[in-house]
Amino acid sequence: MKKDCMDIVKSKCEKCTECTLSKTRTNPVFADGNPETAKIVLIGEAPGETEDETGKPFVGRAGQLLSQFMSHAGISREEDLYITNTVKCRPPENRVPSDEEIAACAKFLEAQITVINPRAILLCGATALKSFYQGDKKTTISKIRGQWFDVNVEGKTYPAMAIFHPSYLLRNHSREVGSPRRLMEQDLNEVKSSKLADINHDIHTINLSGHKLMPV
Ligand code: SF4
Repeated sequence: MKKDCMDIVKSKCEKCTECTLSKTRTNPVFADGNPETAKIVLIGEAPGETEDETGKPFVGRAGQLLSQFMSHAGISREEDLYITNTVKCRPPENRVPSDEEIAACAKFLEAQITVINPRAILLCGATALKSFYQGDKKTTISKIRGQWFDVNVEGKTYPAMAIFHPSYLLRNHSREVGSPRRLMEQDLNEVKSSKLADINHDIHTINLSGHKLMPV
C-alpha cells in the first residue's frame, strides 16, 4: 500500500519541471529504500554526478561509506532506511541548491515522509538541517548532531537528528575519540537503540487524500 502511494509521488517527480534544475539533470533522483519496511527517512542535500547518472541517491564513494556506517550500527540500508535528498535533481557543478529550488521540491519530500510515517528522520548535512530546523539558523551539524529535536511535516511531528554527511567523513579519516567518524558511530548507535528497538510501532492507515500531490 505504501509502495502504491509512493509510486504516484515518484511518477510526478520524474515529470517535474518546476525549477531550473530540470534543464540540466540527466535523471531525477527520487529515493532508495523499501517504503513498506523503512522506519527511518534519511535526507541528504542533492544528487551528485554518479547519482544523476544512475538515478539513485548515495551510490558514489560517500554512499558506500554511509552504508558501512549503517551496517556497523546494525541498521539495514535495504530494510530500515528510506534515503532521499532535499532536492531531487542535480545542481550544476554540485553547487548548494538555492532556497527557491528547495522550496519548489519540498512537496515531494513532504509526501515521501507522509507516506513512510517514519519513527525518525535523519538530516544528513547542512542543507537538510537548514530545511527543517526551526531553531538558530546559524547552527551547524557539529553543534547540534546527536540531539533529538522535533520537526513538523504536514501537521505531524517527527523526532529528528542531524548527522554528518558522509562526504565530510571522506575528508576526515581520524578515528580518535571525539573525531567526526567516532561521533557518527555514536549517533547511529543512539538511533539504533532508541528508534529501532523492537517495539510495537503504531500501525497506521495512510490517508493522502488531502495532500497536494494526490490527484483530485
Ligand atoms: Fe522538480 Fe525538484 Fe527537480 Fe526542481 S529539483 S525540477 S522541483 S523534482
